[in-house]
Amino acid sequence: MSRYGVIPLRALADNYVWTIRDARCAAVVDPGDARPVRDYLRSEKLELVAILNTHHHADHVGGNAGLLGEWKVPVYGPHDERIGEVTQPLREGERFALPHFGIEFEVFEIPGHTRSHIAFYGGGMLFSGDTLFAVGCGRLFEGTPRQMHDSLTRLMRLPDDTRVYCGHEYTLSNIRFAKAAEPENAALRELETRAKGLRDQDLPTLPSTIGQEKMTNPFVRVREPAVIAAANRYARKTLDDPVSVLAAIREWKNSF
Ligand SMILES: [Zn+2]
Repeated sequence: MSRYGVIPLRALADNYVWTIRDARCAAVVDPGDARPVRDYLRSEKLELVAILNTHHHADHVGGNAGLLGEWKVPVYGPHDERIGEVTQPLREGERFALPHFGIEFEVFEIPGHTRSHIAFYGGGMLFSGDTLFAVGCGRLFEGTPRQMHDSLTRLMRLPDDTRVYCGHEYTLSNIRFAKAAEPENAALRELETRAKGLRDQDLPTLPSTIGQEKMTNPFVRVREPAVIAAANRYARKTLDDPVSVLAAIREWKNSF
């Protein structure tokens, strides 16, 4: 089994193209733009071996075609006609290997942000796209609060030390909202100090971990009394189930 690392390549405004690489080969997750990926692969003399897509949004798949023009590689992604380049459409529970790196991924269908969003789990890593962010979750463009709640709940059953590689650098703005929802959360304040230090050095705040999300993410903490109380204040009524709490704080955050 080869050693590999996971490198964040910046793309567009605040996307990360997570790049799994060893000394010779690379696989990329959600290349929203081909250029930074191509520049990196060329300068490091790496051969692209696979593209992985979590969902159809242009800032996650916009670089597929440009990369395929140079490297003929399989594209793993959801069953969704809106991603024309996918060659290996995947469903819940399916597995595939990236043999160059000795990684086997399992596919989770996690609707909410979009209806066909998937995540890739393997090698102690979760590539969560725009469903689970550090201290946040994606907007509900095509899914329901229940779908998002079920998707997040499912991801929280992964081991606490699972590294979470999400699609955007949103951590500091997510923390600002999370502090409004849960002002007394000490883990959130510690994370804020750490994240600010990283951003001051222009470093990514990612990956997160499942354990960190359980401590800090209001969208997975919808059973916490403080989060429920904040949701009730926003909704001006008593919300008595986790899905309604998630719906309320998601709506609140949209206008925060
Ligand atoms: Zn998206």
